[in-house]
Amino acid sequence: MIRDLIPREIRDLSAYRPSEGEFGIRLDANESPFPLPSDIQEKVDSALKKIPPNRYPEPSSRRLKEAFSGLFGCCPENVMAGNGSDELISLILWTFRNTRDQSRPRILIPVPTFAMYSIGARSAGYEVVGVPLRRDLTLERHLFLSEIVRTDPGVIFLSSPNNPTGTLFGREDIEAILDVSRGLVVVDEAYGDFSGEKSWVSRIAEYGNLAVLRTLSKVGAAAWRCGFLAANSSLIEEINKVRLPFNVNAFTQAAAEVMLEGYPGISDQVQTVIMERNRLASVLERCGLEVFPSRANFLFVRAGEREEALWTFLKQHDIMVKFIARNQVTGDALRVSIGSRDQNEMLAEKVVEFFREGDRR
Ligand code: PMP
Repeated sequence: MIRDLIPREIRDLSAYRPSEGEFGIRLDANESPFPLPSDIQEKVDSALKKIPPNRYPEPSSRRLKEAFSGLFGCCPENVMAGNGSDELISLILWTFRNTRDQSRPRILIPVPTFAMYSIGARSAGYEVVGVPLRRDLTLERHLFLSEIVRTDPGVIFLSSPNNPTGTLFGREDIEAILDVSRGLVVVDEAYGDFSGEKSWVSRIAEYGNLAVLRTLSKVGAAAWRCGFLAANSSLIEEINKVRLPFNVNAFTQAAAEVMLEGYPGISDQVQTVIMERNRLASVLERCGLEVFPSRANFLFVRAGEREEALWTFLKQHDIMVKFIARNQVTGDALRVSIGSRDQNEMLAEKVVEFFREGDRR
């Protein structure tokens, strides 16, 4: 059978399925609810018009890397651009597959966390070691460190703030992990703009085993698919051998370069999302939901065993949020992206209605 040629790890996987279909209010993918600021959008439009369609793009996104390194205070040699940070996650996994004792390679991740780490790892032949977060969704440092020592993972992924919980992992926790780990520690700052914390890019010279991921997807440019990896230049050089040339298309390179040059211009929108997040957290709490502290552009909530019913109810009312089913630490839960003020109001209204109708039944 032709399928026998496909490794069991891949045949046993389920594909990552972002929700499809049209919804009036989409709060399921942690996108920005806003259009780009008009001055940035205008500059993007004019940059896109100048792209010659008969030419390949800049093969290694040189100017884009320069713009990123200028903004984050590193060198272009420390940076790789990717077709979303998803691509960079795969490239990291593909590159770091050796183990010191010839056993199967391993990654270590907190549970729950972003699904693509384990999907990418499994398909590249890794074993996935999960370390449960505490019930309050914080990291249990001693357990995490002892699992590092026990399993000696080649790669550790720390989404900080963590998707889907919104937890920001402490500076000292991450430093301890970097000190103890003999493998690569990837701090994924996909939600870094909303955390109020300084980027770990500023620490890559200090830690040879630190890699940092960023993306433009959460701050208004998800459509472009543009992510960045920052690390020691010798690691970037190795990962670069696995990267396909022209991995970032010319439109994305041009648009993203404009966006990085005007990056301070998006801070008003980021601040609005943070304010709305804090406001929505108290509104939803008053509506009867259990809301966990978040440093990202979404909230992790529970609805007293009625998460799936609430998810279905919202969907029927044209509001899409993300349903997290039967997680080993959190059980069922919902992840709700922060929308515009109007969208958040609509959401809150429907949550109130759901509980009111439930009480009548
Ligand atoms: N890392 C985390 C933690 C994410 O939540 C996401 C998007 N859901 C990504 C990476 C991928 O982002 P991108 O759009 O840059 O591929």
